[in-house]
Amino acid sequence: MTEQRVVSDSSQTYDFVVAGGGIGGLSCALALARKGFRVAVLERAREFAEFGAGIQLGPNAFTALDYLGVGESARDGAVFIDHLIFMDSLDGEQIGSIDIGEDFRHQFGNPYAVIHRGDLHRSILDGCREADNVDLFTQALVTGFEQTDTDIRVGVNGAGAFRARALIGADGLRSTIRAQLLGDGEPRVSGHVTYRAVLPLEQMPEELRWNDMTIWCGPGTHVVHYPLRGWELFNLVVTCHAHATVEAHNEPATPEEVLPWFTELCDKPMALVRTPSEYRRWVLCDRPPAEQWTDGRVALLGDAAHPMLQYFAQGACMALEDSVSLAEAAAQRRDDVAAALVIYELDRMQRTADLQLGSRMMGRFYHATGAERRVRKEIMGAMSQAEFRDHLAWLYGHDVCRVARQGAPEPS
Ligand SMILES: Cc1cc2nc3c(=O)[nH]c(=O)nc-3n(C[C@H](O)[C@H](O)[C@H](O)COP(=O)(O)OP(=O)(O)OC[C@H]3O[C@@H](n4cnc5c(N)ncnc54)[C@H](O)[C@@H]3O)c2cc1C
Repeated sequence: MTEQRVVSDSSQTYDFVVAGGGIGGLSCALALARKGFRVAVLERAREFAEFGAGIQLGPNAFTALDYLGVGESARDGAVFIDHLIFMDSLDGEQIGSIDIGEDFRHQFGNPYAVIHRGDLHRSILDGCREADNVDLFTQALVTGFEQTDTDIRVGVNGAGAFRARALIGADGLRSTIRAQLLGDGEPRVSGHVTYRAVLPLEQMPEELRWNDMTIWCGPGTHVVHYPLRGWELFNLVVTCHAHATVEAHNEPATPEEVLPWFTELCDKPMALVRTPSEYRRWVLCDRPPAEQWTDGRVALLGDAAHPMLQYFAQGACMALEDSVSLAEAAAQRRDDVAAALVIYELDRMQRTADLQLGSRMMGRFYHATGAERRVRKEIMGAMSQAEFRDHLAWLYGHDVCRVARQGAPEPS
């Protein structure tokens, strides 16, 4: 591994250049490296880093993390919560609770856990740093690509270029690679706004110090909280239909901006929303599923390919699954990288489309009003634990390693 800052070109030809060093880009580089490919990761930021908040990982994410060889280090940083609890934020009553203990782990082969984003990202970054065949570059802004029959030239910092057999665009929601590949314009601004804060344990209201992922559902709003880092911290995410029209990403926000959206909340969640002295703001965006992610030697991965609302808590999990699928396809077709990318695309497109569209429906479920709110309680309240697990099997029971090894249909 080499790690360099400020780079304009490289004399080497790589098997893969990966644009973007987020969870998607690094996991894809590590998966490819473990199959023996030589990979360069080009990250525009000064450092490889994630912002300081929590993330939920379904059992399907741990399957992929184990494939990457970093499952144990991710588990070390994770908190293994007991339930996914759904509360009504108007009357304070429980809507439903999914036990994610022994039976859940047994059915899906792995736990459901929560982790600090920085710890997850570091686990994967450390894996890349330990690999001899991954070169990591920061301050390397990818500006575009030109491909020929024999290789691809990736423009960096408007000056130099990297050469590779293939380019993976893992450059997030506003992907430069997607813009050149698909030219399908700006992401859809949902209008929903999320405010995040991370609280030290002592600031967390005592009556809400639960070892669970708790979601308080209200009309047009929801509030999520769970512990992080061995209970040193609690993650708080509050979301509202604020009808925002312009994307925002990790911007400062005051409690005065946040609180007016949550006046209907009952006492417990309201006390929590009042607690942070500052928040960070995101305006949520997604896209409808795309018909195509690849073109010759270029493919998209993670949010660049299938940005989704966070309501299934699966965007990063999908990027991890993508990485497994891509590495398996590349190993199956070492002789023909373009064919490998099409196999990857065929394997992943339907699965991620289900999540993109399902996440929009999940938002409606969380934010239900009137009759929908009553029906939600009736349905969830009547479900047994076995029924919950059966309903979630399509999502958490997906074994990306097995599916990818079986091989997607060959491109016609
Ligand atoms: C509020 C919220 C909560 C969420 N909760 C969850 C959850 O609980 N579980 C879950 O699985 N997912 C969750 N997600 C989704 C998850 O955060 C994303 O799906 C995931 O981080 C996407 O990773 P990525 O690597 O594809 O993209 P990104 O994280 O956006 O990384 C892209 C990287 O590319 C770099 N880059 C961009 N352009 C260039 C360029 N031109 N050249 C070089 N580098 C470039 C960026 O600097 C960045 O480092 C949530 C999202 C939100 C908004």
